[in-house]
Amino acid sequence: QIDMDKLKVLNDSHGHSAGDAALVHLVKTLKTLLPEALIGRLGGDEFGIALIGQDSRPALVRLGDQILATLGQPISIDGRPIRLSATIGVALWPQDAAEADELITKADLALYKGKKEGRAATVAFESELMADERHKRFVERDLRAAILLNELELHYQPIFAVDGTTLISHEALVRWQHPVRGQVPPGDFIGIAEQSDLIDKLGDWVLRRACADLAALGTPHVGINVSVVQLRRGDFAERFADILLEAGISGSQIVIEITESLPLKSGTVELSNIEALRALGVRVAIDDFGSGFASLEYLRGFPFDIIKIDRSYVANLPDSLIDGLIVSSIAKIAQSLEVEVIAEGVETAEQLEFLRHAGVTALQGYLLARPEPLRSRFASAA
Ligand code: C2E
Ligand code: CA
Ligand code: CA
Ligand code: CA
Repeated sequence: QIDMDKLKVLNDSHGHSAGDAALVHLVKTLKTLLPEALIGRLGGDEFGIALIGQDSRPALVRLGDQILATLGQPISIDGRPIRLSATIGVALWPQDAAEADELITKADLALYKGKKEGRAATVAFESELMADERHKRFVERDLRAAILLNELELHYQPIFAVDGTTLISHEALVRWQHPVRGQVPPGDFIGIAEQSDLIDKLGDWVLRRACADLAALGTPHVGINVSVVQLRRGDFAERFADILLEAGISGSQIVIEITESLPLKSGTVELSNIEALRALGVRVAIDDFGSGFASLEYLRGFPFDIIKIDRSYVANLPDSLIDGLIVSSIAKIAQSLEVEVIAEGVETAEQLEFLRHAGVTALQGYLLARPEPLRSRFASAA
């Protein structure tokens, strides 16, 4: 299955004749390269090519790339030099599907994958593609319902001062109580939610819930995780402010945790959202600090209030000399910048001891407390 990439552009700038000329050129190219093939138009600028007697996936991918290379050579349409580009999806009969309809669906899935990756290339169908796609669609559909049906829940993990006993804050961590699959961890659905507007709906829900729970939590503020995808929306800060207003919560009661994958350039939507929130008193924590690259460079251009040291640096304390040095250095930098530094993933008393001496200002981890729903905290308090 072959789909032209640039035909819309051709149509827009040169009128219909250019688009038609491009299609004619495509069909001619195909007929020259594949004289034996059955070629049919599936609609628009999408064509199906049936080849008989080819059963090697790599050979078909090579063939597809040859077609694309030929198509990519400049031609002249209406006296203008034009280069055509397309994406090809390949499926094999009978390995991938016995029926024609299904075979086309699978070639389409491969094509769609190529388009999504922005490649003008040939992509062969693989069975994981089907499983991935199906899984993704299930999760998307279920998650959309889950937000409406209140199947989501926040668990709160306490954050302590370095003494290990003074409770200073909480981090909200989303959980999905799926009616069939049971509890689904965020790692299994945040990434999928980030591929659509679901992440915004989820993010709004998390903020609303955290605001509603804040009084019962008993700490002056609560941290929520915000995806970089959310920060890319032009109306993010505005909706955030609206939710705070509705809940009667002030910005200073909220900390947003952002991983360091955020682009730094000034003038970006992401940074203006962050600046708008900070103007409301919201504090910003750099999450998983050290897990990305260019971490130190990051500190220069980023308006933040708190550093959270990634738990991978804490895991091998106190034995790992280098991790120890890194943690101590981050703590020193934080100290001179007068920002808070929280160590994540504290699991042993030895780690706690090391971190205390290294100069971090707060601690979070299973040793001190696990994330728990609010109700179980009420239950244990009663
Ligand atoms: P994170 O923000 O780094 O959250 C900390 C994760 O480490 C949590 O996993 C927490 O349960 C776990 N953890 C806490 N203490 C320890 C410890 O001592 N040892 C170990 N091994 N793990 C510890 P969780 O809840 O599965 O969350 C995973 C990630 O999902 C979070 O990483 C965060 O990036 C994302 N996430 C969670 N809730 C939300 C949310 O509401 N919105 C968004 N956008 N992302 C979320
Ligand atoms: Ca197209
Ligand atoms: Ca976090
Ligand atoms: Ca983290």
